[in-house]
Amino acid sequence: MNLRNATLAVHAAQHPAPDTGATTPSIHLASTFARNPDGDLPSRHLYSRISNPNRDQLEEALRLLEGGDDAAAFASGCAAITAVFQALKPGDRVVCNSDCYSGTREILNDLMRNWGLEIAFADLWNPDAWDSAIVPGTRLVWVETPSNPQMRITDIARLALHAHAMGAIVVCDGTFATPFLQTPLAQGADLVVHATTKYLSGHGDMVGGAVVAGSTVPELFARIRKIQVHAGAVPSPFDAWLTLRGIRTLPLRMKAHCANALEIAHRLESHPAVAAVHYPGLESHPGHELATRQMAGGFGGMLSFQTHGGEDMATRVAGACRLILRATSLGGLETLIEHRARIEGPSSPTPRDLLRLSVGVEDVEDLWDDLEQALD
Ligand SMILES: *Cc1c(COP(=O)(O)O)cnc(C)c1O
Repeated sequence: MNLRNATLAVHAAQHPAPDTGATTPSIHLASTFARNPDGDLPSRHLYSRISNPNRDQLEEALRLLEGGDDAAAFASGCAAITAVFQALKPGDRVVCNSDCYSGTREILNDLMRNWGLEIAFADLWNPDAWDSAIVPGTRLVWVETPSNPQMRITDIARLALHAHAMGAIVVCDGTFATPFLQTPLAQGADLVVHATTKYLSGHGDMVGGAVVAGSTVPELFARIRKIQVHAGAVPSPFDAWLTLRGIRTLPLRMKAHCANALEIAHRLESHPAVAAVHYPGLESHPGHELATRQMAGGFGGMLSFQTHGGEDMATRVAGACRLILRATSLGGLETLIEHRARIEGPSSPTPRDLLRLSVGVEDVEDLWDDLEQALD
C-alpha cells in the first residue's frame, strides 16, 4: 500500500511484537546481544553502537516519511550535520546558505576547515548568487528552507538541477519544515538532515538528529553510515523511542503549529511596534509563492520579526513576555521567544532587532494576549 504521510506517521515501524503482541515498541536498553551456541546471532543485532532495535525502528520511520532509501539516526542534529561533512574528502568545496542554523556555520568554520574542506557561504535563496558560488569543483551545496532565523525560501528543485549540472550534490536541512510539510528528496535533493530534537520528537525532551538519503548517493551514504557506527554519535534507545513516539502525532502537531503561526504572523504584521515579519505564509513574504508550491499543508511553526527601536526594544519585548518562555530551541508544544543574534554570537549575520518565535500549540488568543501586552 502506498500510504500518505499522516498514516505513515502513525504506522511506520510500528509492528506488534512477535513474542507478546505488544502494539507499541519495547525499549531495548541492552548494550550487547547474546549469541546462540553455534555462534550465530538470533537477530541482526550485535552491539548497540552498531545497531539497536529502537534505532532501527526510528530509521525506518524517517526513511518512509521522507521517501528515502536509507536513514541514519544520530545523537544530535549537529552530529548528523558533522557526519555529512566528514563523509567528504579534504579539498572538497562546500557552499552553504548564508542564512543558516548558526551551529552549521560553526561546524563548517571551526571544525571542517581543519578537515581541509573549502567553504563558501552564499545567499542561495537568490538564484542570481548561484553562478559565482557553485563553481566547478563544488562537491556539496547545503541549503536550509525555510532558513533559520530569517525564513528565506530556496527553490530546492531548481537549485538541485543547477548543482547537479555542476557535479555537486544538494543537502537540505529540513528541520523547520519536517517531512509533513516538505519532502526535499522528491524535489531533487540528495540528502535530508533533521534535528529530531525539534518537531519530529516534538516535546522538547530529547536531543537527536538524522540523515535520510535518496537513491542518488549510495557511496556517500555508506560513508555516513560508517561514521555513525564507528564514531558512535548514536541516539540512546530511549531517545530513539521518544522520537518515534513523537512522530506519531507529527501531523496533528504541525497543523496546530502552522495555524497558530499564520495567525500570529498576520497580527504582528499589523502591530505598530513591529517593523517586519518574516513568515513564508504571509503574502508579503518574498518567498510566499515559491513556498506555496514547494511546501504542502502549511508554512511551519517558526517565524521571526523585527521591532522598531533596535536591539534594546527587541530585548524589552522578549523580557515582557509572561506566558511565552525565553529560551532557545524550537518545535516543542510551548511557544518560545529568543533574541537570535545574541545566541548566535559575535559572528552572527542576524539583524540585532530580530526576535525568533517558535509558535507552540497553545490557544492562539492566549499567545496573542501575551505578545500584544509585551509589544504595548
Ligand atoms: C537545532 C537545529 C540544528 C541542530 O540540532 P541539535 O540537535 O541542537 O544538534 C540543526 N539545524 C536546524 C535548522 C536547527 O534548528
